[in-house]
Amino acid sequence: MQKLSNSIQLAHCLLKDRLNEAKIIVDATAGNGNDTLFLAQNALNNVQIYAFDIQKEAIENTKALLIKNKDNINLPLENISFIHDSHEHIDNYIQTKIDIAIFNLGYLPGGDHKFTTKDDTTLKTIDKILNNLNINGYVAIVMYPGHEEGLKEYQSIKLFVKDLPKKSFTVGWYKMINHNFNAPALCWIEKVGEYA
Ligand code: SAM
Repeated sequence: MQKLSNSIQLAHCLLKDRLNEAKIIVDATAGNGNDTLFLAQNALNNVQIYAFDIQKEAIENTKALLIKNKDNINLPLENISFIHDSHEHIDNYIQTKIDIAIFNLGYLPGGDHKFTTKDDTTLKTIDKILNNLNINGYVAIVMYPGHEEGLKEYQSIKLFVKDLPKKSFTVGWYKMINHNFNAPALCWIEKVGEYA
């Protein structure tokens, strides 16, 4: 099976390495719970995972997937907070430093497009997380430029991250160069120094 031709798989590959040290982990867009499950399967057993979604149904689906897989995850279910709220309110839920965050943007495949992520709230949340990220912490952002709101979001994120100071962050931008321009892309941020 190909492993690096898909931005989500690539994000998971990159995160896996750091998950064995992370203590506070955020899934900013829980959706159907696949990313939360991946995090729970690869995290240590004493960490806290926070999964956000604005859709009640997404939070319920995520919780159900984790309960179904409770014997195949590394940590107790009580260590996973399923939060039915926008990720922009992250500071209401997490006051400690964050080690890992993943954003899988857009809307649920087959779901209502009115629940898509929006560039202003996404950027606000990314900025909050970057301010609160531990040094050596990682943020992975999977973007979908193939729909109108997703393209706007992709362009806004690109403008924002390209000016992040390199003494504070290393930023990667992954696109499959021989695929369609609209193919999902990955932005990868590692905190390397203080950011004020
Ligand atoms: N990570 C998911 C999975 O593994 O199944 C897929 C996520 S899906 C592509 C994007 C999700 O972002 C949708 O479920 C949508 O409701 C959610 N979303 C949109 N705006 C949001 C916001 N401001 N805060 C949190 N979640 C949001």
